[in-house]
Amino acid sequence: MTVSEGDSELLQQLRAVLGEAGLRIQPDDVIPDVVMRPQTTEQVSAILRLCSSAGQPVVPLGGKTGLANGHIQTGGEFGLSLERMNAIEEIDVSNRTMTVQAGCILQVAVEAAEEQELLLPLDFGARGSATLGGIAATNAGGNRVIRYGMAREVILGLEVVLADGTVITSMNKMLKNNTGYDIKQWFIGAEGTLGVITRMVLRLRPNPRSENTALLAVDSFAALTGLLRWLDARTAGTLSGFEVMWPEFYEYVTREGSLHKPPLPHGSAYYVLVETLGSEPEADAERFETVLGQAMEEGLVSDAVLTHSQSERNALWEIRDDVLEFFKLGPIIPFDVSVTLDRMEGFVDDIRSGMDAVKDPVCIVFGHLGDTNLHLILGSEDAGAFDYEALSTLLYETVQRHQGSVSAEHGIGISKREQLCRSRSSAELQLMMAMKKTLDPKNILNPNKIFAADALEAG
Ligand code: ZN
Repeated sequence: MTVSEGDSELLQQLRAVLGEAGLRIQPDDVIPDVVMRPQTTEQVSAILRLCSSAGQPVVPLGGKTGLANGHIQTGGEFGLSLERMNAIEEIDVSNRTMTVQAGCILQVAVEAAEEQELLLPLDFGARGSATLGGIAATNAGGNRVIRYGMAREVILGLEVVLADGTVITSMNKMLKNNTGYDIKQWFIGAEGTLGVITRMVLRLRPNPRSENTALLAVDSFAALTGLLRWLDARTAGTLSGFEVMWPEFYEYVTREGSLHKPPLPHGSAYYVLVETLGSEPEADAERFETVLGQAMEEGLVSDAVLTHSQSERNALWEIRDDVLEFFKLGPIIPFDVSVTLDRMEGFVDDIRSGMDAVKDPVCIVFGHLGDTNLHLILGSEDAGAFDYEALSTLLYETVQRHQGSVSAEHGIGISKREQLCRSRSSAELQLMMAMKKTLDPKNILNPNKIFAADALEAG
C-alpha cells in the first residue's frame, strides 16, 4: 500500500489528533508505512475511534522481540507505537507497586525499582528493547517464573483502550480484589487482538540479598523430577531457577574449542542449573549446600559444582544462555512448548525416535523444567535433508498426543495459528472467538493474529 500525503481523510484526521511528530509516514518500502505515535491515553482513544469508523486495521507495536510474529503486518495495517508513552508514573514503596506507561522499556523499569531496593521480577534476554506493553500483551515470563510467575501474576491492574476507543481504566493496586470478572486477564496474553494496553500497575518484591547457584548432574528423569520436588520443599520458598539441559545441549555448548569450559564432565543424562534468591546471605548459602549434599546422599544428584562469586554464577548462566551456538549446526527450528512433568520423558523419547528418520538429525532439548516449559531445537546438519513441514508436524503432533501446549512462552501470533486447535478444544476456541467479536466487531485490532480473519468469520 502506498500512502501519498493529503489523499486520505483518515490521515488528516489522525494528524489533527497526533500532531506532525505523532504520525510517521515511512518510505514506500518500510512496513508498516504509517506509524501512529500517541502521547496520551486520550490520543490512543481518539485514533482508535477514527480507525474503527474508517475500518482501518491497526498493529500495536512493542519492542518487536517476540518470536511468534505477533507484531508483523499482514496487509495495510497502520502501526501503533506507544514509544512516546514510556513514563514511570509512580513507584509506591509502601504498597510495593510501580505504575508505568506501556511504552516503557523493561530494563528502565527494572533499574528504577532497584533504586528503591525493590525487584521487578520480570526479566529476560530482550530486556533492553522489550516494552512493558508488549510483555503484558504476550504474557511474557523469563528466567524466574518458577518463583514469581509470568506477566499475568506480576500485573495488578491495567488501562486498556478498546477498538472503538472506549477507555477501560482498571488500575488496581490491591493484591486481593474479588469484584467480579478479572478484566485485566482478558487483555494479558491477548497479543493486542482485544485492546491496546496503555498503562499498568506492576507488583514489586523485596530485592533479594542472596543468590546461590549450582550446576548439577542427574542420572535419570525420575531423579530430575524428584530433585525439583526436593529442592522446592527444602529451600524455604527461595527456589528461583531450575533450568535443565539435556546432554546434547550441554556437551555441544561446552565442547572442545567452544567458549565454555565444562564445569562438570560430559556423560551424564541431565544437567541442571539451580538458583535460589533469598534474604539472608549466610544462612541461605549454608542451607543451599546442606540441601544439595542431602540430595546427593539420596541419589538425586550424581555430581555438583557450586559457585562462590558473581563471575562463577555468570559463567554457568552463559552456558545455559548460549542458544545461538546451535545455529552453527545447520538449518534448525526452535520450538517453545509445555508438557506436564509426568509426560515429559515420554514426550522427548517420542520426538527422539521421530528424529531417527531424519538424516544427520539435530535434536537439542532444554527448558525451564519448573515451569513445565521445554525448548526443542530440531533440524538437520545436512541442509538438503531439512524439511520444515515434517519437523513441525512431528513436534506438534507429539505435543498434542501428550496433551501439551503448542506455545509456552512466545504466544500464537501468526506462526502457531494453525496449531492452536491442537491445544484448545473447539468449545474453548468458540468462546475466544466470541470474545474477539464482541470486543472488536470490525476486526481492526491486530487482525489475523491468533485467529485468521476467515476463521473468525466462519467461526
Ligand atoms: Zn524460554
